[in-house]
Amino acid sequence: MEIEGRLDYIIAGAGAAGLSLVYYLNQVGLTDRRILLLDRAPKTANDRTWCFWEVGEGIFEPIVFRRWEHLAFHGEGFSTVLEIAPYRYKMIRGTDFYRFMDQWLDAQPNVARAYAEVTSVTSDGDEAIVRTRDGHTYRAAWAFNSILFDPPVRRTTYHYLLQHFLGWVIYTPARAFDPQIATLMDFRVDQASDTRFVYVLPLDAHTALVEYTVFSGELLPRAEYVRQLAGYINDRLRIADYEAQHEEFGVIPMTDAPFPARHGARVINIGTAGGCTKPSTGYTFQRIQRHARRIAQALKATGRPHVATPLLHRRYELFDSALLNVLDEGRERGRRVFTDLFARNPPQRVFRFLDEDTTLLEDLQVMSSVNIPVFMAATADALRRRLAPPRSHPLSHTDSSTG
Ligand SMILES: Cc1cc2nc3c(=O)[nH]c(=O)nc-3n(C[C@H](O)[C@H](O)[C@H](O)COP(=O)(O)OP(=O)(O)OC[C@H]3O[C@@H](n4cnc5c(N)ncnc54)[C@H](O)[C@@H]3O)c2cc1C
Repeated sequence: MEIEGRLDYIIAGAGAAGLSLVYYLNQVGLTDRRILLLDRAPKTANDRTWCFWEVGEGIFEPIVFRRWEHLAFHGEGFSTVLEIAPYRYKMIRGTDFYRFMDQWLDAQPNVARAYAEVTSVTSDGDEAIVRTRDGHTYRAAWAFNSILFDPPVRRTTYHYLLQHFLGWVIYTPARAFDPQIATLMDFRVDQASDTRFVYVLPLDAHTALVEYTVFSGELLPRAEYVRQLAGYINDRLRIADYEAQHEEFGVIPMTDAPFPARHGARVINIGTAGGCTKPSTGYTFQRIQRHARRIAQALKATGRPHVATPLLHRRYELFDSALLNVLDEGRERGRRVFTDLFARNPPQRVFRFLDEDTTLLEDLQVMSSVNIPVFMAATADALRRRLAPPRSHPLSHTDSSTG
C-alpha cells in the first residue's frame, strides 16, 4: 500500500499490542481501512516469551509453543500441584509471534509497514499526527500508540514497584524435567526484603525456561540475578551439568499510577503504554488481547475506538492498589500473600480474580483468604494516598519503560 494522503489508522509500535491490534482490526472485517504500522526496526530476535492462562483456544493458538494443565506452586510451608482445567497455562515465544505476524501482514494489502524512530504521536482537531525522526509526518483519523513516551511521574499518591527477572533456557543431558508440570511460583529462595520466586517452564524432559523474578522498587546488579538463578538450578533443581541456550531479561512496571488512555481526541494508547499491565502481577499479554479486541469491535460497530470500563469493574483497581501497598509498605511478605491465595482458593478462582472476571461473592472469598487486617490497613492507606494532595515521590526515579 502507498503511504500517501490521510490514513484511517496509524499504529505506533509494532510489538505485542500493535501487532495484536492490527490483527483484530482485520479479523473484525475492517479490511478496507488504510493502516500504517510503524516501528523503529523489524523484529529479528526472540526478545521475550509470553505466558498466560486461558480457557479453550485463543486467537493465537497455532503459535502456542507449549501448554500445561498442571502447575506446581511452592509457597511458605505449602507445596502443591494445581490442576487448572479448564484453564491451560500457555507459552508463546516472541519469535514465533513476530514471524506469524510478518507472514500474515505480507498478505494484507490494506496494511503498510514502515521503520523509523517515532518522535511524537499527537491529536490535532479530528486528526492524529505521527512524526518520525527521519522527517516524515503521517496523518490519520486515529492513531494507536504503544510507545511509552512518558512513564508515569512518581508521586506519593501511588505505588511503584518493578517486576524484574532474568531467565535462561537451559538444556541438560539428564531427563531432569516433567514436561507435564510447569512451576508457576517457587518461593523457596531467599526473600531478602522483598518478593522473590523462580518459575520453571519445561519445554521437554531436558530443556526448561528457568526464570528468577523479583518484585521490588529497584533493580539488582546483574551478577545477583546470575548468582541466584545459577544457585536455584544447582541447589533446588540439582542440575550441575547444563548449558544456557538463551537468556531473557525483563522489567515490567507494577504500578497503580494511571497510564493515560488517550493523548488528546484522536490518539488511543494501547499495550503497556495504555495501562494494560496488571499492576499487582505484571501479566499483560491477555489484557492486551482483550483491549485490542474491544477497540476493533468498537471501531467496527460505531466507527470510534472508545472502550469504557464499567464503574463496578473499577473495584479491581483498588484490589491492585491494596496488594501493591502490602508489598511496598512491607506489611506482609509477598510469599505469604501468594501462599494464602493458592492454598485457600481453587486456582480457577484465583485466575478469574486476576482476570477481573469474578463475581462479588468470589471477590469476598478471595479477600477472606488473605490476612484481612493487613489488607484492610493497606486498602485504607491506598485510599488515603489518593485523597491526600499529590507530592513528588521521595525515591529516585527508576526507569520503568522496559516492559
Ligand atoms: C522480557 C519480557 C517478558 C514478558 N513476559 C510476559 C509474560 O510472560 N506474560 C505477560 O502477560 N506479559 C509479559 N511481559 C509484559 C508484556 O506482555 C510485554 O512487555 C509486551 O510486549 C507489551 O506489549 P507492548 O506492545 O505494550 O510493548 P512492546 O511489545 O515492547 O512493543 C512496543 C514496540 O514499540 C517499539 N518502539 C518503542 N519506542 C519506539 C519509538 N520511539 N519509535 C518506534 N518504535 C518504537 C518497540 O520497538 C516495540 O516493538 C513481558 C515483558 C518483557 C519485557
